Amino acid sequence: MTNATTAPEFAIEVDHLEKIYHASGKMPEKHALKDISLRIPRGSVFGLLGPNGAGKSTFINILAGLVNKTSGTARIWGLDIDQHPRQSRAAIGVVNQEIVADPFFTPMEMLELMAGFYGVPKSERRSLEILTALGLEDKKDAYVRQLSGGMKRRLMVAKALVHNPPVLILDEPTAGVDVELRRSLWTYVRELHDRGTTIILTTHYLEEAEELCDSIAIVNHGEIVASEPTPKLLARLDYKTLVITPKEPLSAVPASLAGLDARIRDTGELAITFRTSETGIGRLLEQVRGAGVSIGDLVTEAPDLEDVFLSLTSEPEAA
Ligand code: ADP
Ligand code: MG
Repeated sequence: MTNATTAPEFAIEVDHLEKIYHASGKMPEKHALKDISLRIPRGSVFGLLGPNGAGKSTFINILAGLVNKTSGTARIWGLDIDQHPRQSRAAIGVVNQEIVADPFFTPMEMLELMAGFYGVPKSERRSLEILTALGLEDKKDAYVRQLSGGMKRRLMVAKALVHNPPVLILDEPTAGVDVELRRSLWTYVRELHDRGTTIILTTHYLEEAEELCDSIAIVNHGEIVASEPTPKLLARLDYKTLVITPKEPLSAVPASLAGLDARIRDTGELAITFRTSETGIGRLLEQVRGAGVSIGDLVTEAPDLEDVFLSLTSEPEAA
């Protein structure tokens, strides 16, 4: 399946994807995905970044065949999910957000069961290899209910890999996972990537996406608000805000600071936003002192995900 002659340019191609959940029980109607079009290049580590409720799992679950889309098209490894439901799904391994593990099977049995489900011939199965790679070799014959949370999470990853899919999708794989496991999980994911697997992960942590992904799409309220290579996205976040509490209240921004992006907040602080690659804090503080402001206190604020959304949705399109 990873044969270079048949490998498509894009691992995932989605066009005008829409999802409306109809009201049911306590859940109101929800327009969860709005006109999503996205191309995920083969061989990339692609991040789908957005806050809770943005629509990330809905997107993943449509690809996984767990949620029906309302309209639009999706192709996995070049295969349309409507026209080739089985083949397209065989091209992805999905690690879901929730841990679902049958307590009455052992890890080895679960992997063999999954391999059977995907029709992997016995001679081509690599259950032990996968369990070993994920540090579950000693637990291969233990009952799943005896595994720790971290081990169950790794078993979820193992299950997604039994059919050797060219695309691995991880939906918030580090939610509720300790730092050590997070490290080892990422090490293994990077190894898979080095061997050619396309990786897609969803997260609501900017740092996680920043560290792992070569491209990031930001989704908010069911819409893609940005999709670009990580360095380009981060360049947009190349700013901080210096917040100064003056000893004496200021009625206006001092004239000598007019050339800066400076304003007085309702709370009386002087807030100056600056490009970290261009301006040092030391020089800014000199300017502030030079303008006759006596500094009572100061903090710097770095942009977070909320700021990213604001800057992406309120700013005119950057060139
Ligand atoms: P994310 O994974 O980014 O946190 P989800 O895709 O899980 O977001 O959810 C997107 C939106 O759709 C949320 O507002 C959520 O409450 C809603 N939603 C998810 N699943 C259902 C469902 N089965 N029925 C109704 N609304 C749903
Ligand atoms: Mg989710």
